[in-house]
Amino acid sequence: MSKSLVAVVRYESPLESVRKAVELSDGFGNLSSNARVFIKPNIVFWTKAAQFPKWGVITTSRVVEDMVVLLKEHGINDITICEGMVTMIPGDKDTPAHAFKSLGYENLKNRYGIKYINIFERPFEKVEIEEGLTLNYNKDILHSDFIVDLPVMKAHNQTIVSLGIKNLKGIIDISSRKKCHNPDPDKDLHYHVSRLSDKLPPIFTLIDGIYSLERGPGFDGKMKRSNILVASSDILSADMVGTRLLGYEPSDIPYLVHAAKKRNRPTDLSDIEIKGEEIDNLVSYHEYDFKYEENENCTLPVPLAKQGIAGIFYRKYDSTMCTYCSAINGLVLSAIRFAWKGTPWDDVEILTGKIMKPVKGKKTILLGKCMCKANRNNPDINEVIEVKGCPPKPKDILNALHKAGIDADPNLFKKETIEQLPGFFMARYKGRPEFDESFFQISE
Ligand code: SF4
Repeated sequence: MSKSLVAVVRYESPLESVRKAVELSDGFGNLSSNARVFIKPNIVFWTKAAQFPKWGVITTSRVVEDMVVLLKEHGINDITICEGMVTMIPGDKDTPAHAFKSLGYENLKNRYGIKYINIFERPFEKVEIEEGLTLNYNKDILHSDFIVDLPVMKAHNQTIVSLGIKNLKGIIDISSRKKCHNPDPDKDLHYHVSRLSDKLPPIFTLIDGIYSLERGPGFDGKMKRSNILVASSDILSADMVGTRLLGYEPSDIPYLVHAAKKRNRPTDLSDIEIKGEEIDNLVSYHEYDFKYEENENCTLPVPLAKQGIAGIFYRKYDSTMCTYCSAINGLVLSAIRFAWKGTPWDDVEILTGKIMKPVKGKKTILLGKCMCKANRNNPDINEVIEVKGCPPKPKDILNALHKAGIDADPNLFKKETIEQLPGFFMARYKGRPEFDESFFQISE
């Protein structure tokens, strides 16, 4: 049996490094010049209100432009960049438009005649992945001839790594994304992610590791300059090599184990031929997880527990919490942190996701529609405080915290503050020239 080819290349210079990765992996080997090609970058998040750190979070515009140039050189004229980013306000079209423009896609359009689309402004089509499992995909990409998948090299707090296959979650609609965070342990998030590429046209994956990320997927992770590109026409092989480079074995990653099993393949890289760099020289362990501390007085992320906060139990998220609820998690924790005045709260518990169960006798905040449905009548709860929405609204969360006796600052829950919050993380990278904003710009 012939081995899958994966190229591992050091990023050294614009265009030529991406060219080397494409050539070594024979990425365009079966690509006809009249193909309709879709490029899927990873724009996991955006805000219009502040400059925020994008390194390792968003695919560099450098790699996107280099890929466009190489496709044009290959004779391809029909190129579309597509993304479906999650916005704080569902249905917000301005934020994605601002992201595309800021990342230079309008300049790519003017210079190379490409198109770019927000998939939420386009139709979706239901696809049966297997009996009983359907997902709604963006119709354009589903009926294209070829996909160029450009994920970022990141560790991820729910799936451990997020690479080529996981990046495709950005082309399904919101209800399908929620479905992926399934409470059924046999058909959970990992299982759903493992199946995302199964029904799509041929995919060429190029993992952008110019910057990489610990504790991804967002701006609150730790960013690194890594200067690595990984490319393959086999998405699973690209992900397995990317995983190794992030310091994990593919057998540690549940979605890769599922995907390999489905394809009858080993997870030890024995059926992969690597061209380019020796990967053992480039491996760098990336933490994926936010650590939580548990004792009889509190359950909280370690930094909050170290602050001495007591009387509150905020259990660690699980894989059933979807992106929308994840986005507010940081906000709630910040509100708790700033509200702490040294007096323990009155045994407050906050539950998230879809499967958590309350501890007996507490004042329990049920965060989000799913938790309300699962636990509102649970007799173990001493006092129930429901925050119903999907996702829950900031003002409802604020009211719930107040009701539980936590004097959270209302300013934190204002739309403007929420949008500006990511900007505060820029301070971590100040004065470090390796974190270069120009990687996310394209000149006119
Ligand atoms: S309430 Fe939260 S966890 Fe439940 S479906 Fe909505 S976003 Fe997902």
